[in-house]
This record gives sequence, C-alpha cells and structure tokens, in this order.
Amino acid sequence: DTRHGPILYLEDITVSFDGFRALDALTLYIDVGELRCIIGPNGAGKSTMMDVITGRIQPDQGQAWLGQRLDLLRMQETDISRAGIGRKFQKPTVFPEHRVVENLELAMAGPRGVWSTLRQHLDGESRDRIDSVLTEIGLQSAGHSRAGQLSHGQKQWLEIGMLLMQNPQVLLVDEPVAGMTHQEMDRTGELLQRLAGRHSVVVVEHDMDFVRSIARTVTVLHQGSVLAEGSMDTVQADPRVVEVYLGD
Ligand code: ADP
Ligand code: MG
Repeated sequence: DTRHGPILYLEDITVSFDGFRALDALTLYIDVGELRCIIGPNGAGKSTMMDVITGRIQPDQGQAWLGQRLDLLRMQETDISRAGIGRKFQKPTVFPEHRVVENLELAMAGPRGVWSTLRQHLDGESRDRIDSVLTEIGLQSAGHSRAGQLSHGQKQWLEIGMLLMQNPQVLLVDEPVAGMTHQEMDRTGELLQRLAGRHSVVVVEHDMDFVRSIARTVTVLHQGSVLAEGSMDTVQADPRVVEVYLGD
C-alpha cells in the first residue's frame, strides 16, 4: 500500500563472510501493509537478509531502518523484536508440552516476561486478544490441546499466532508452507493475506505456485542483491531470472 510509504528500509547492505559477499549492496524497501515474497536460489542471501533486519548480524556497510526513526543497526536483537519486527524461522519452535493457549500467553509475556506473574494478571483485554488470535490462526477448537499434538501445519499457524501476540509491525516468515498439505497451504495463504494490511508481511518461499497465489510484488535475490522485482509474471518472464533458475 504505497499511500503510506515504506516501513522497512534496507539500503546498500553488504555482509561478508571471510571475504565472500553474502549480501552485496542490497537495497530493498517494504511498504506499510504489503505482502512481499522474496525468492531466489539457495545461497542468494535470503536468510542473511533476515539476520540483518532482526539484528543477528551486523553488516559491514549500509543502512537499515524501521519506519523513519528506528535505526536497526544501532539496536540489539531483543529491542528490534520489541520494536515490532517478528520473525518466524522455518522449523516451528512452539513449546510442545504446553497447551496452545499457554503458548500464546508465553508469547505475550515476551522474551523477558515472567509467565507466572502474567497469568495471575491476565486481564479481560489480554484474554480477548488470545481469543482473537486463536480465531485468526484457525485453532479456536484446539486451544486446550498440547502444542506437541498439533499437525505440522497447525504448529506453523500457532507460531505465527505467537508472533501476533506481540502485535508486530513487520512479520518475517521463512518458508511457511514447506512440508504442508495443499489444504494447509491454501489456509496459510489466506492467513498471510489477511495479516497483510494490518501488518507488513515478508515471506521467503521456494514454492512458486504458493508465491504466485499470494504475492502482488515478488523480489528475486541473487548473489546478495536484487536481480528483479515486480509481479510474478514480470519476474518469471525476465531472462536473467530464467537463467538463474535454470542454472540452480
Ligand atoms: P539463502 O537463505 O538465500 O539460501 P543465505 O543467506 O543462507 O542464503 O546464505 C548466503 C551465502 O552466505 C551462502 O553462500 C552461504 O553459504 C553464506 N553464509 C551464510 N551464513 C554464513 C556464515 N555464518 N559463515 C559463512 N558463510 C555464510
Ligand atoms: Mg535460507
């Protein structure tokens, strides 16, 4: 939604590992409320890009901003997450022994939260929030199941729900549909599309049919910088993109 301009600014970001440039003057803007898919062959720099945004890796050079005021490169990882950037890794990391609602409570308490204290003080507003997130992720009838008993797809949705408990401005989602059934993929696509608008959603994904089904704008990374950007039709017709994928 370009009416609001970018929420995430990456400019000229370079990351080197022993002289090898994993990111090479990467410049990328994500608009408020958009759903952006990032694709690119293995080693293109997609995970490294997420590591820079979330403060796990300091780049050698460049700028990274959340909105126009928060300089991400001057912030610690926990402060970046608290400022509103949530990241979902590829493998679900739910607490299997805890119930679904408890996982959401834990997520609301945050990285330094004290769960036992929180539970005693869960006010009506917090309970409403948990209920609305449960409904959002389609797990309203599984709220009292142990997270470890959920299907793979349900665990992925729960983890997205855990991110939502922090009400992030930006959601970074790494390969959300890997290992899902077609039906689970459809529901995940619907979920991510619903979330965009209220949040800005950045999805790294290999499944091209899925990407086509959800994204208006696709960014192709290659060798640490942007090779092409546009609609799925535009980037798939780009000869440079075809070449990179055939060579993969
Ligand atoms: P993608 O997620 O697109 O597959 P990555 O961002 O994981 O790519 O990696 C980009 C490149 O940087 C790859 O060639 C990878 O081997 C290299 N790389 C990533 N992390 C490290 C690291 N910690 N040390 C050395 N090389 C790394
Ligand atoms: Mg990766």
